Amino acid sequence: MTAQLKPAASETFEVKNPATGESVGTFAVHTAADIAERVAKGRAAQIWWAELGFDGRKKRMSRWVRWLARDCDTLYDIGFRETGKPKADVQFELLAGLEDVRWAAAHAKRVLEEKRVAPGIAMVNFDARVSYEPLGVIGIITPWNAPVYTAFCGMAYALAAGNAVILKPSELAAATGVYAVESFYKANPDAPEGLVSWITGFGETGSALCKSGIDKLGFTGSVPTGRRVMAACAENLTPVLLELGGKDATVVADDADIDAAARSVVWGSMWNSGQACVGVERVYVVEKIRDEFLRKVEENAKQISVGMDELSDIGPMTVPAQIELIRRHVTDALDRGATALVGGLDSIQPPYVHPIVLVDVPEESSAVQEETFGPVVVINTVADVDEAVRRANATSFGLGSSVFSKSRGAEIAARLRAGGTTINSVLTFVGMPSLPFGGVGDSGFGRFHGDDGLREFTRAKATTRKRFSMGEDMQQFPRPKEQFDVVYKVLKLRYGRKFR
Ligand code: NAD
Repeated sequence: MTAQLKPAASETFEVKNPATGESVGTFAVHTAADIAERVAKGRAAQIWWAELGFDGRKKRMSRWVRWLARDCDTLYDIGFRETGKPKADVQFELLAGLEDVRWAAAHAKRVLEEKRVAPGIAMVNFDARVSYEPLGVIGIITPWNAPVYTAFCGMAYALAAGNAVILKPSELAAATGVYAVESFYKANPDAPEGLVSWITGFGETGSALCKSGIDKLGFTGSVPTGRRVMAACAENLTPVLLELGGKDATVVADDADIDAAARSVVWGSMWNSGQACVGVERVYVVEKIRDEFLRKVEENAKQISVGMDELSDIGPMTVPAQIELIRRHVTDALDRGATALVGGLDSIQPPYVHPIVLVDVPEESSAVQEETFGPVVVINTVADVDEAVRRANATSFGLGSSVFSKSRGAEIAARLRAGGTTINSVLTFVGMPSLPFGGVGDSGFGRFHGDDGLREFTRAKATTRKRFSMGEDMQQFPRPKEQFDVVYKVLKLRYGRKFR
């Protein structure tokens, strides 16, 4: 059975390769009516999916992972043509996405199956249970910069928890989204129509999904769109999960492994042409090791190959408007007195941006305060780790962070205000599905990944059952005086002293 429902929309748009302009495909601009049809089909199909239980769903999700692993070349090709990503970047995303599907399917039973809990002293004659029930139909809206990973990640946790999914990929990465949904049906031809479906289009299509009466919306994208998504969802009190932008900082302490820190900072800021929510955008290096660190960063950054070769280190920028934003940030930083250690304004050669390393950038600059989302990294010098932590925490974002220190890593990590921190490497928490992933502040709220990521797509249900009568029941009339006296004593005994 085909994954997609009839294409009612008459308007279409074309996705083109950002470097060559070659057409990648033509897609429908779906409307509220198309979405209503998918929600209805999703509701019916979700019942089938929920009734399969954890083991039945795991079996089908496992088939899906195996099918994708066998067909990975197709996705490398789509990703490369659609977003200009070198194949290694598509592969990196696919690896993380497949690990999410595998982990979510394998752990859903442990995390979500009904559990017995203590009823408490006042209700000791009751059995108490908590269960996590699927919400119904989940909308997943994804961005263009990590279209493979965000699609599989969003679908993985929602499906493993027993929901149907409607995926709305970015208008710049529609082919990837369509592939992600179709692959589920290729692996599971018995799955009913509408269990997983896609809609394509621009912001209006996304907004219509938010207002369609779905049961939850998982959004990954920019902060301004996140605000609009939340406002649209408020119409029907649809709950939202927001995974938004970042301005991740790395702290390099004076006892850091300088070699490792320099290599990681260059990779963390430049991979995927810097178009990464958890990319390293700011570095605070302690003065004592500054010169050696900068020398090694320069050495590493100058080795990066840029181009449209499938195996280039970094490819073209996916969105032309992003190039202008990068130009604005770099110009502002240089005008305020920053120095370009590697590259500079002439590194901006659309559709490519070659690596740019800026040092001594005033903290109020846009390159320090706003998401740059390009192969640009700011390195500022600090007197000590305390100053580094204070500056690292001084933006409205709080997605990821990292610290390099041989002896104080854990202590510094605990002081960084972010959803995740890596010690002596960068970004690693994103690739570990057992850990929750999400932000604080303007970086959003809610979590994909881990036990929290599975519960995110469920509602907790409490069930209690009376096992036996216990003397006079407190929940009925009349209320005898003796009962009051017994409870009086129990209350004093239980709550009138220090508890452990
Ligand atoms: P974007 O906000 O422009 O678009 C994201 C998605 O929202 C697209 O599918 C778009 O069509 C849709 N959309 C646009 N307007 C909408 C509206 N009014 N209602 C509903 N949907 C709407 O983001 P982008 O430029 O595609 O992606 C880059 C941003 O995503 C960056 O800020 C990046 O940091 C962030 N991001 C965050 C994470 C994370 O996990 N925190 C991961 C990847 C990307």
